This record gives sequence, structure tokens and C-alpha cells, in this order.
Amino acid sequence: MIKATELRAFKASLEQLRSRLRGDVTMMADEALRKTRAEASGDLSTMPIHMADLGTDAYEQEFTLSLMASEEETLELVEQALERIRSKKFGICEECGGVIAKKRLEALPYAATCIRCAEKLENGDTGRPRQPR
Ligand SMILES: [Zn+2]
Repeated sequence: MIKATELRAFKASLEQLRSRLRGDVTMMADEALRKTRAEASGDLSTMPIHMADLGTDAYEQEFTLSLMASEEETLELVEQALERIRSKKFGICEECGGVIAKKRLEALPYAATCIRCAEKLENGDTGRPRQPR
């Protein structure tokens, strides 16, 4: 089981991660919105000169926004992990109720499942027998 001192360390790193994610999300959203506004207002000074750059810029913006979405997802997982610490369920797999390996928690403090369940979920294996071909 996880000791109280270890739990405090996990809580501290989760809180640190949360504030970093919050900061980054806000910063990136600002950047992406500023670009969109400049384009909408037709401010040509911020527009790329070469047509080829237009595609790159659009791609970059899309990339930033998709990155932001995944950061928000991570933030959500971090919040849930902090909630599990409060309700004393931290380190317990949400799928099978087993103990999550400490090594896994050290690498991924917001992990909600043990490695076995995580692999199962990733492979889309829902525990149902495979369909015969
Ligand atoms: Zn599990």
C-alpha cells in the first residue's frame, strides 16, 4: 500500500502538474485566438508572405489546438487523481480494483488503472470473446 508520506509526494507532484497545465492551456489558447483574430480582421502585417506558408500556419494552429485539447484531458485526469487522494482511493485501479504499481504511479501519477487494465483498454479488449471469422 502507499504510505502517507508517499501519498503527500504524489499529491504535491499532481498539484504542480495541475498548475503547469492550467498555465500552459491559457497561454496556448491566447496565442491561437490572437492568430485567428488577426486573420479575421484582415491584418496583413501578421500574414505570411508566401502562399506556401499559409498551409503551414493553419497546420500549426490546428496542432496547437489539438495539443491543447489533450492537455485539457490530462488536466481532467489530474483533477480526478487528486479527488481519489481525497477519497483515499488513490493507487487503486478503477477497472479491476487492484493495486496500481508504484513505479507506474511515479511515471504517471494520474494513472487511473493498473498497467494490465490500461493495456486491455488500449487494445479495445472489453473482455468479450472475439468474434469468429
Ligand atoms: Zn486493473
